[in-house]
Amino acid sequence: MARPVTEKDTFDAEDASYLGDPWREAGAMAGFEAAIEQGPALFLGALGAFVAAGAALFLLFWYLAVPRLAELSPVIPRVFLAGGAIVFLYIVLEYLGLVTTVYTPKCLLLPFVRSSRVIVRLAPLAPRFARLFGSTPDRMAHSAVQVSNAVTRATERRVKRRGPVLVLLPRCLQRPECPEAVVNDIENCQRCGECPMTELLALRDEFDGVVMAVLTGGSVVPAVVARLDPRAVIGVACERELIAGIYVVDDRPVVGVANQRPRGPCRATEFKWPDLRAAVELFARRAAEDGPD
Ligand code: SF4
Repeated sequence: MARPVTEKDTFDAEDASYLGDPWREAGAMAGFEAAIEQGPALFLGALGAFVAAGAALFLLFWYLAVPRLAELSPVIPRVFLAGGAIVFLYIVLEYLGLVTTVYTPKCLLLPFVRSSRVIVRLAPLAPRFARLFGSTPDRMAHSAVQVSNAVTRATERRVKRRGPVLVLLPRCLQRPECPEAVVNDIENCQRCGECPMTELLALRDEFDGVVMAVLTGGSVVPAVVARLDPRAVIGVACERELIAGIYVVDDRPVVGVANQRPRGPCRATEFKWPDLRAAVELFARRAAEDGPD
């Protein structure tokens, strides 16, 4: 097993961000929800609306530009329209493939481009448009994470990687009064059962090749991932941290598990155990099939 992860190895003071930073900005607590239940339909609907809007804009541009393009050559408008139609057809097929992939066990994403990466690239933008769809940034982010997770589950077999399964945990899962320095080394937990760390360690010990790290902020994620070079990453955090973290870890399978905040942000947070267990089992099973690293 890899040696314990310590932030001393990876912490970059020049680039420090701390868990809770997204909740300290002006107005950040507006619309705060302790726990969010939101399916993938919200993000998929927003994506579909943008696809339709993009097509409408293209047709409008084509309609306005046709007279001038035709002056140059009567062939140009037809070529322009044919090129646009091919691109639009590709986007529509990929979108329908994404919807099918999210709601069925089949992966219908087009195989010749890294479509799942496109979704990951779009996901951080989603919260900015949440109000347009009558939602909140956190709900839109939650929905985008659900979509990203579904894409990861459908495509993770395509990614050939070795290495451990890395589970990144936020420090706020620890009981606030606990003096143990689990950020330096999760093994410092005394497994007293007062917070989820006890069961998290039990979950880790259940599987070969699972490494857990407790982090104080998202800025250390790239360094931790670079040092451990995991086959897959599972992150537990609030939607605001997850949406940024998924973007950072975009070159390997990543699953986000949203936390719940019954005592407010960043304090004795909780999460849904079945979601985390399912993610660990998925990647641990793959590691077992691939054999020893
Ligand atoms: S399980 Fe107990 S010892 Fe371990 S981090 Fe939680 S409170 Fe501290």
